[in-house]
Amino acid sequence: MTKVPPGQPLTLFNSLSRSVETFVPIDPAMARVYSCGPTVYHYAHLGNLRAYIFTDILRRALAWKGWPVTHVINITDVGHLTSDADEGDDKMEAAAKKSGRTIWDIAAFYTAAFKSDIARLNIIDPSRWSVATDHIAEMIDFAKLVEAHGAAYQLDTGLYFDVTRVPDYGRLAGAAPDEDGHGRISEVEGKRHPADFALWRRSPPDEQRQMEWESPWGKGAPGWHLECSVMSMKYLGAQFDIHTGGIDHREIHHCNEIAQNQAYTGSSQTGANFWMHNNFLVDRSGKMSKSKGGITTLNALIDRGVHPLAYRLLCLTAHYRSELEFSSESIAAASTRLKRIVIAVGKAKAVAQAATWPPYGPWTSAGSSLLTTFDEKISADLMTPAALPVLEDLLANKQVDADTKLRLVATMDQLLGLRLLDLDRSELRVRPADAAIDEDEIETELDRRQSARADKNFALSDQIRHDLAEKGVEVMDGDTLRWDWKLTLDG
Ligand code: AMP
Ligand code: ZN
Repeated sequence: MTKVPPGQPLTLFNSLSRSVETFVPIDPAMARVYSCGPTVYHYAHLGNLRAYIFTDILRRALAWKGWPVTHVINITDVGHLTSDADEGDDKMEAAAKKSGRTIWDIAAFYTAAFKSDIARLNIIDPSRWSVATDHIAEMIDFAKLVEAHGAAYQLDTGLYFDVTRVPDYGRLAGAAPDEDGHGRISEVEGKRHPADFALWRRSPPDEQRQMEWESPWGKGAPGWHLECSVMSMKYLGAQFDIHTGGIDHREIHHCNEIAQNQAYTGSSQTGANFWMHNNFLVDRSGKMSKSKGGITTLNALIDRGVHPLAYRLLCLTAHYRSELEFSSESIAAASTRLKRIVIAVGKAKAVAQAATWPPYGPWTSAGSSLLTTFDEKISADLMTPAALPVLEDLLANKQVDADTKLRLVATMDQLLGLRLLDLDRSELRVRPADAAIDEDEIETELDRRQSARADKNFALSDQIRHDLAEKGVEVMDGDTLRWDWKLTLDG
């Protein structure tokens, strides 16, 4: 029997149909989600992290509706070329050549860095991290079957997928293969169709590669698209609920995954009922990428005095299918907004009777029309920018007593994931890496300023405020915190 979730039906935009559809999991007892993971040759940039904040909201929305979630994220440590198609060098091999470290070292280092970013953004760990190089034997078996089903052919350079052997190749991209940009891809000699892609790339005879394996098609490495078909099918089944990725994946990677799944299973099923894509984080010069300078990593942002959860909040201020502009103004505004929310929660805590405020959820209206409204926003394809003001209205509402308010905040935060009940305002005071003064000195200066004010020596008091401002410290009169670091976003 299909379980009907409480509240509004959850509707999600499905890139396959290009429309918003009501979500119902295949297995009523559980929702199964696969997210294309990071290529671990570098730190994740803020744009990549947007993709996982989106996935996190999705998974929290499923839990909000009462479905336990089995979530797999893969770690790509082999096969991803510098272009998403069969062009360029392997990103991991190239990074190893450049740094003089082994690929395995690089992968371990950036995998750990990625997991640390995920934790700082309060993204729930997936049920399973699935590493591509742990699945080489299965990838070979998968490709063998695709070949046995007549959907692959061999060239000197490896084994290639024949896109004419599956129905509607490229349907997800919304364009026929010849017009969707595959024409841009430089030709691998002998490819029968420009969109055909490598299942297995044979190592060039004159090249020593760090990562290569024996296969029926010679020594080499799997094509990048293969890993996601293999690992999603292994852990979630041949047809699961939702497959996610950034919008760039809609054009090539996911089309190729779907084609592989269809050839493997011999059916027209794509592998997932919903294919969902987040839009890009952009800066003024265009799509954010790992090769551009400026503030592109979470570490760089923290070094400028920004708390990671301010970046999470920034992502929630835009709908996941809209582009989001990253700028010093937008992140500063998100930082201020988070501080205001946390201050309001702190005020409620100061007058509340209880010591803890367990959430009402999974979803229930709990007699509050605000929760009903919040649920409506989330159910409408995860409309977080419209859900945030509901939280803020609640915090501003003087009719709701503090304990009820905090339980409602805890309930909404199950979805928002901003750690609103345990985040202290002082935690949001993040020391910029280049700060020229330490905390003790600041407190001493502020004591001096207080005495000056008591003596009505306003010239001295202003001078101290001015000197602190020069050192990147903002004095906050009338606030128990007394001072905060200024963000050092420009320059
Ligand atoms: P990668 O590490 O390049 O394999 O990418 C990891 C994830 O980030 C993928 O889902 C990409 O589609 C996504 N992605 C890449 N660039 C951006 C961006 N600027 N904004 C949002 N998502 C992105
Ligand atoms: Zn993938």
